Amino acid sequence: MKVAVIGGGWAGIAAAVELTAAGVDTTLYEAGRVLGGRARAINIDGRTLDNGQHILLGAYRDTLALMRQVGADPELLLERHPLQVVDPAGFRLALPKWPAPLNVAWGLLAATGVGWREKLATAWWMQGIKARRFRLDSDCTVAEWLDAAGQTGALRRHLWEPLCLAALNIPAERASAQVFANVLRDSLGSARREDTDLLLPRVDLGRLLPEPAARWLVANGATLRFGTRVEGIDVTADGVAIAGENHDAVVIATAPQHAGKLWPEAGIAYDYEPIATVYLQFRAKTRLPFPLFKQSGKYGQWVVDRGNGLLACVLSGHGDWETLDDNDLAAALNDELPVTENAYWHKVIREKRATFSCRPGTPRPTCATSHPRVMLAGDYTWADYPATLEGAIRSGLRAANLLLRDSQNPASSSRPA
Ligand SMILES: Cc1cc2nc3c(=O)[nH]c(=O)nc-3n(C[C@H](O)[C@H](O)[C@H](O)COP(=O)(O)OP(=O)(O)OC[C@H]3O[C@@H](n4cnc5c(N)ncnc54)[C@H](O)[C@@H]3O)c2cc1C
Repeated sequence: MKVAVIGGGWAGIAAAVELTAAGVDTTLYEAGRVLGGRARAINIDGRTLDNGQHILLGAYRDTLALMRQVGADPELLLERHPLQVVDPAGFRLALPKWPAPLNVAWGLLAATGVGWREKLATAWWMQGIKARRFRLDSDCTVAEWLDAAGQTGALRRHLWEPLCLAALNIPAERASAQVFANVLRDSLGSARREDTDLLLPRVDLGRLLPEPAARWLVANGATLRFGTRVEGIDVTADGVAIAGENHDAVVIATAPQHAGKLWPEAGIAYDYEPIATVYLQFRAKTRLPFPLFKQSGKYGQWVVDRGNGLLACVLSGHGDWETLDDNDLAAALNDELPVTENAYWHKVIREKRATFSCRPGTPRPTCATSHPRVMLAGDYTWADYPATLEGAIRSGLRAANLLLRDSQNPASSSRPA
């Protein structure tokens, strides 16, 4: 079988590796000069940085497995920390390295800056959502969900709302409660302690997956066509033609706004949320109290300590920060950090369409299309999750496996449900 994968983000990489490993003649078309898409390394002022600070979770099982498959060791490349939320306003929740669910129960009960009554009410609420397997009767906003549960105190302000913003990239007032519940199910609600861990990259994003994957793909016979933007797909009776080249099937693994141009039925008109990463360089000895720190000023949300005095402030979703120019934003975030000096270098990277807006009831296409030889992959097609690396990887694996299954058993041809 000969298959084209369009788009070399993490979804396209996953699809291409899965197909190549199964012996498929795979060609990966990528418009840019490197793999990685929205999670790639870039060069700025002679430094290799990420186009946006990314945070992974221990629950990202398929991402970690894919890294291992292409020869990137997650134990070396990622720094693993039990979840801690430390806030300068006095709130601190730290999970011990105990088996789940004891780690979450103890972390909650030992949290500082929250009263006992609220802790017990929250533990009771979490038991309830667990018993209902994290399924809501109907989707609503995270804010409505928390209101209905009486989650209106310190844990809402310091834990649920910041976690929602970080995971779904949209404030609780607009975010889908069902998708947030799915994230909680696979992290704080998981039976595996490791799933609640934070995984912070020790290296740039290119070295985590895209670069080792590119080497693995070439070594295993795949063809990588960089700088090649696919302008259209011609579906024929027995395959798909792309830029005059015939393939038996195609996986369209682009972001949703590009997928619609190639395959109109994928073209859901999403709204998008931005993310800004503000890099601030201090003296090499400057450190945060914990490598992932919650800011609590007017603009700051989360900040990651990248080592050697480099801090990466992350601003998720639409907000007041968008009104500031780069210099003012960097200065405002500097002022809100627990450091006494001024950064001597900064860089602001704004991604206007970082993720689709994960609101209640947002439509998510499946990866099968009306044509059995055309599959969709990409974070927006993994309906269980918001736009994440893990959702992208899982979608790529699923698209590849549907094609492999259909090639072995054409009768099971994957039409949309
Ligand atoms: C700033 C930022 C921070 C983020 N933080 C996190 C985080 O902390 N944790 C997390 O899990 N997720 C995070 N995400 C989300 C995560 O990066 C995305 O969900 C994921 O990278 C999406 O991968 P994808 O393969 O689905 O799409 P993309 O990465 O968009 O890949 C699509 C690829 O297709 C290519 N392409 C498009 N059109 C064509 C064409 N016609 N022909 C050929 N190629 C084409 C593009 O160049 C691109 O390389 C963040 C995203 C951003 C932007």
